[in-house]
Amino acid sequence: MSAKILVVDDNAINLKLVSDVLEFEGYDILKAVDAEEAQVVVAATLPDLILMDIALPGMDGLTLTRKLKAEQRTRGIRIVALTAFAMKGDDQKAFDAGCDGYITKPIDTRKLPDQVAEILQRTITQKPKEPVP
Ligand SMILES: [Mg+2]
Repeated sequence: MSAKILVVDDNAINLKLVSDVLEFEGYDILKAVDAEEAQVVVAATLPDLILMDIALPGMDGLTLTRKLKAEQRTRGIRIVALTAFAMKGDDQKAFDAGCDGYITKPIDTRKLPDQVAEILQRTITQKPKEPVP
């Protein structure tokens, strides 16, 4: 079974680009344009990985990450921050919020499949031992 990846991005072009690249790799892709929609998706389907845009209208991606990492049902989801703010300290902010990785925009579509595969590999080796209720 292919891994489920939720792509959260309010920019339609980025959302389509990232989704298309990963769909081509054979992943099962879910999409959301903001934190609200992402929460609806996650309530229905637990993804293996979320590619989380940080700058979102309404609730930002780091706030949503903190929420998901605080809940037992969702804390095992790997979350990788996607952000255009290639500023010093932003990677640390992403890790502090609970993100498992950090990818700077613009996305390098040739690198993305390897970056995603690496993170998913970590999911398998570092899976929490307790069962999901
Ligand atoms: Mg954005």
